[in-house]
Amino acid sequence: MGRLMTLTLARAGCTVEVFDAGGPGADGAAARVAAAMLAPLAESAIAPSMVVRMGHHALQRWPELLAPLAAPVFFQREGTLVLWHRQDAAEAARLSRVLARTAEQVPELPAMKPLDAQGIAALEPTLGTRFAHGLLLPDEGQLDNRQLLDALLATLQALPQVRMHWQAPRTLDDFKPGSSGQPERVIDCRGLGARPQWNTLRGVRGEVIRVHAPEVTLSRPTRLVHPRYPLYIAPKPDHLFVIGATEIESEDMSPASVRSTLELLSAAYSVHSGFAEARILEIATQCRPTLPDNLPAFHQPRDGVLQINGLYRHGFMIAPALLDIAMELLAAGHSSLAEHFGLAPQLNTDSP
Ligand SMILES: Cc1cc2nc3c(=O)[nH]c(=O)nc-3n(C[C@H](O)[C@H](O)[C@H](O)COP(=O)(O)OP(=O)(O)OC[C@H]3O[C@@H](n4cnc5c(N)ncnc54)[C@H](O)[C@@H]3O)c2cc1C
Repeated sequence: MGRLMTLTLARAGCTVEVFDAGGPGADGAAARVAAAMLAPLAESAIAPSMVVRMGHHALQRWPELLAPLAAPVFFQREGTLVLWHRQDAAEAARLSRVLARTAEQVPELPAMKPLDAQGIAALEPTLGTRFAHGLLLPDEGQLDNRQLLDALLATLQALPQVRMHWQAPRTLDDFKPGSSGQPERVIDCRGLGARPQWNTLRGVRGEVIRVHAPEVTLSRPTRLVHPRYPLYIAPKPDHLFVIGATEIESEDMSPASVRSTLELLSAAYSVHSGFAEARILEIATQCRPTLPDNLPAFHQPRDGVLQINGLYRHGFMIAPALLDIAMELLAAGHSSLAEHFGLAPQLNTDSP
């Protein structure tokens, strides 16, 4: 969020100084670990229509945001494929009902398409006909988050009006916006790092495995309905796959458990046996910055300070909407876009 804000402000003519507790590789940011799926309808299984609408907005906005960057970023809109094993048909039926309800509430979303075994094989030939039923959520997308972070960094580094400070943690108390020698405004995009001043923030742990699987070809993010959690497999370029699922109400950043790793990899193998020969590149753990209602929020605790947080598990899916709202707030003090999304109650001027 911080890198997107910086670039947009710099392009709007501002001089921007960035203070990041981490380094240029974004180690320590949830953004580095994420799968970066842009799946508003799929996420409506757990997200309200406000988040779904913001996700739909992002699918149009990302190509505009990516086009001027200094390096290409993998972005696709081939849809999301939802699959289930026979024993999980009841859970799949429940999910289909939830998605159908979302489609009524957010009619601008393209309609989901039920698939039979042949339909699945036509979309993803390497899966064959092992799944009897599935769903295609058309036009949903994904991007390569690490390419995006690198491309934003390279673009920012080339701008003379941007100065970046690494390993430079800050708190709001370090700034007195508007006073002499101080910035005019402070934009706080510290994710979980903002908790000392936003005490309702919490971390929701996720574990993600990155594998290189030359024997597997999938053309779109694929989700497996599961009684405990929905597994996702997000294919990035060059047979790299990001496999994840877990959501644990914990701020424990310790390495992934054996149980989660076994479950994730077994579920992936049950989707495609080619994962058996995959090479595990990384098993990463991170916590998603989350507010009590699991929704994003803006806070303006005092003049000249704007905090953007609570991106939870939808940071890439909603960042373009939050960016556009933030720019409206900074320019005019209010945002018609926030009203359009129904986010207005989340615009708060009280101290969090
Ligand atoms: C396992 C997992 C999978 C995910 N999958 C998806 C997905 O498929 N789709 C999707 O849309 N989203 C996904 N997300 C969510 C997404 O990653 C987050 O919502 C998003 O990264 C939040 O962005 P942010 O900029 O608010 O915080 P972060 O990405 O955490 O960035 C915070 C930044 O603030 C810096 N910082 C922290 N403290 C300080 C300080 N005191 N001073 C200065 N700088 C500080 C950090 O160094 C970091 O650079 C996933 C997240 C996880 C963990």
